[in-house]
Amino acid sequence: TLEGRSAIVTGSTSGIGLGIAQALAKAGAAVMLNGLGDPVEIERQRAEMADENDVDVAYDSADMSSPEAIRMMVERAGARFGQVDIVVNNAGIQHVAPITEFPEAKWDAILSINLSAAFHLVRATYPAMRARGYGRIINVASAHGLVASPYKAAYVAAKHGLVGLTKVVALEGAEFGITANAICPGYVWTPLVEAQIDAQAKSHSIARDAVIRDIFLKDQPTKRFATVDELGALSIFLCGSAAASITGAAIPVDGGWTAH
Ligand code: NAD
Repeated sequence: TLEGRSAIVTGSTSGIGLGIAQALAKAGAAVMLNGLGDPVEIERQRAEMADENDVDVAYDSADMSSPEAIRMMVERAGARFGQVDIVVNNAGIQHVAPITEFPEAKWDAILSINLSAAFHLVRATYPAMRARGYGRIINVASAHGLVASPYKAAYVAAKHGLVGLTKVVALEGAEFGITANAICPGYVWTPLVEAQIDAQAKSHSIARDAVIRDIFLKDQPTKRFATVDELGALSIFLCGSAAASITGAAIPVDGGWTAH
């Protein structure tokens, strides 16, 4: 149980971040949600998560491309929860284009949201974790933090960078009860992926099953998507005392993708 612990999960208004936030709340942690979206829908999610799990759930709209907003979010979390024990760096964006056509602005945005935000958030939460002798930092990287695909220059560079940052944070925190690990998912079943499958099936006039098997899961040997619940369960495990010696790891959750 994570009762008495509190967490910040970036990019937790949808998909994987929302799933991890739900798992943390269910385990008894207070949670600071963050991310973009419709304020009414976000407030509904926040209230539901708090009610269902009987924990404190807050929301901060910090834009992960702003170091100042990240610092303010940490201050608010500290004021509300007393401390921040768990940080999940999950917010991320993607852009796909050949390198010669890759827009400079997209490169900068992806590096700042997918990589630099994690640095700023760790930097702001680290001193208090160190002082208390407990901290759990979980960086949601990707199979693309371990291997590359064409046309994803910024994403692959940022996710490899995030795996590198994870190792440094792990080493610096090792004697202070702080662990840092990267989770490296292959394809995960999220509303976004579901919408892409429907769109591709329509535009190529092929069956949904074929889109899933031949396009999305071509490189994922299990031929199934990971689920946000699986990522939530792994995050809870990494926060517990049984995972005290797991640090600096990049853990693939990719159905064997990076095994071949
Ligand atoms: P998603 O688009 O459903 O969620 C992304 C979240 O990040 C949302 O809450 C969004 O509001 C937030 N976000 C985006 N820009 C932001 C900003 N500037 N400031 C604050 N929040 C911002 O995507 P997802 O699939 O749940 O992805 C979550 C993470 O998992 C990402 O880092 C992604 O790279 C990684 N990932 C996803 C998959 C997959 O198959 N879905 C696979 C590997 C890795």
